Amino acid sequence: MLTRARAIEEIAGKHFEVVVIGGGITGAGVALDAASRGYSVALLERGDYALGASSRSSKMVHGGLRYLQNFDLGLVREALLERQLMVRLAPHLVYPTPFLVAALGEERRDRKLGLGLNMYDVMATTRAGRSRRERRSSREREEPDETSWSPDRHRTIDRDEVLELAPALAAREPNDAYLFYDCQTDDVRLVLTILGEAERFGAVTLNGAEVTEVISRDGKATGVAFVEADSGERMEVAADHVVNATGVFADQIRPGELLGEEDVPRIAPSRGTHLLIDAADLPMGKAACIVPAGEGRMIFSLPWYGRTLVGTTDNDFDGDTTHPRPAADDIAYLLEAVNDFFGTALSDSDLVGAYAGVRPLISTGDPRKSVDISRKAELYETSSGMLTITGGKLTTWRRMAKQTVDRIVEREGREAPCHTHEIPLGMEARPGDLEAPDGVGEEATRQLAFRYGHAARKVLEIARADPKLAHPIVPGRPDLLAEAVLAARLEQARCVADVLLRRTRLGILAAPELRTAKAVRPLADALGSELGWSRRQRSREAEAWLEAAAEEGVDPAAAPARAG
Ligand SMILES: Cc1cc2nc3c(=O)[nH]c(=O)nc-3n(C[C@H](O)[C@H](O)[C@H](O)COP(=O)(O)OP(=O)(O)OC[C@H]3O[C@@H](n4cnc5c(N)ncnc54)[C@H](O)[C@@H]3O)c2cc1C
Repeated sequence: MLTRARAIEEIAGKHFEVVVIGGGITGAGVALDAASRGYSVALLERGDYALGASSRSSKMVHGGLRYLQNFDLGLVREALLERQLMVRLAPHLVYPTPFLVAALGEERRDRKLGLGLNMYDVMATTRAGRSRRERRSSREREEPDETSWSPDRHRTIDRDEVLELAPALAAREPNDAYLFYDCQTDDVRLVLTILGEAERFGAVTLNGAEVTEVISRDGKATGVAFVEADSGERMEVAADHVVNATGVFADQIRPGELLGEEDVPRIAPSRGTHLLIDAADLPMGKAACIVPAGEGRMIFSLPWYGRTLVGTTDNDFDGDTTHPRPAADDIAYLLEAVNDFFGTALSDSDLVGAYAGVRPLISTGDPRKSVDISRKAELYETSSGMLTITGGKLTTWRRMAKQTVDRIVEREGREAPCHTHEIPLGMEARPGDLEAPDGVGEEATRQLAFRYGHAARKVLEIARADPKLAHPIVPGRPDLLAEAVLAARLEQARCVADVLLRRTRLGILAAPELRTAKAVRPLADALGSELGWSRRQRSREAEAWLEAAAEEGVDPAAAPARAG
């Protein structure tokens, strides 16, 4: 990625064919799709990349078994195909995980769920029972081909296998379990990887750039004005096409020439809370579990970065959508469900992290609860020509981007087909690609390979050049100080929170270890040496992390979460 200074130079006062507002997964996807079809593209992100829902998801690349209940079959099928494609395009970053639905004690397996899993299998299938012609036409429709990862059908496993995969169930005498597959990822890393690919095709991206106005001439959107965060300066960029990909904020970007309210979406925000627990306290081993959470609701308990991730809730929300916090009653609800199911006695004080996110659900005006509102994406077009793409899921980013750029292509009558189904996202690292310098252990190298793929070499080069940077950011965790330097140098990270919440995920994986300015000082120093901070500024930046952590509510074990 260009440095911010270079990106400002390339964007301010210039003209691009496409300007994208929002640097979450949707905006990143639109930038990649448009740039790879030959458009000149600039992307502007108000805060940091993936700061919104795209860093606050459940980290699943999945079809969404529960949407079958709402008969959202099209959405599930589309998401399942994308899931397979993502494993192919980003094999280092999107990986299959076994999911268990266990029957405990006297319980019998839920037959209705078994039927649902049958459907899930069939909908994920791209090969069985298809003629050659069907397979060829599916390739034309950009569905994964024969060489893609394809999950095994769901099956029933016995008690021993259940306990081997999910030791946390040991106290609950599982009889057996359904086993099926879905995929997991690091959501922010997926966004950064897509942005990296977009840049390879010539897109220019800038964070800390809040779009404040859609500029129009003769009723047509001709660009945007934005405020650059460091200087506070207002800048403009001209565009043939303006794409609003601001997720839950999509109804706040409004060109002057808005004729009808139906030209922009009405967002019905829904908050989801997640908890992180030490794997020693809730050992998921290799598998995720589906956990009943009352009134027919299900939550997940997933292994993630060596911790156990529990989520999520789904409640209408009218609070601060920029910094949503995990609410006390959501935390209590999730802990109660986990304790009931696994026979544990976990409380707030056992949490190593927590976060909340707000889903950009589209309100159709009917009074349905957020749980029942479809996750389908919608594309809107104003009379000024601004396109808004919102709703959807992390998993379906590519389809959303395609839908948007197809509309731009159609407007212009260009011959420019979509290529994103065949563009690898980053590059997998082969064994031997990553030669670790002294002090960088196997766990760190493995994590770097997951997070950056082949590009992990750059982190290792930084660590090799300065052995101080081969040290972990948090003692005992595999994330390296060298990653902070890389984040500032190549990924436009601007502050400690950018590194702790998004470039690494330590802010939610190890919140109790990051409670003091002293604990984050080595990180502030590593960032500061790259960004030219004085000693005083390094102290200020370390203190600023404490404020950011409190604002986000990442550490309920330190300060009980407030309701609301
Ligand atoms: C709790 C929860 C769990 C989820 N779990 C999953 C899951 O497991 N799997 C899955 O597939 N999906 C999941 N989702 C859905 C998925 O996370 C979202 O659909 C997706 O991340 C939305 O991406 P986006 O880019 O549209 O929005 P966002 O990620 O919110 O990005 C919008 C960006 O626009 C920026 N912005 C806003 N205003 C401006 C402005 N004026 N100028 C410049 N930039 C601006 C914001 O800062 C933000 O970065 C989950 C969502 C939530 C909330």
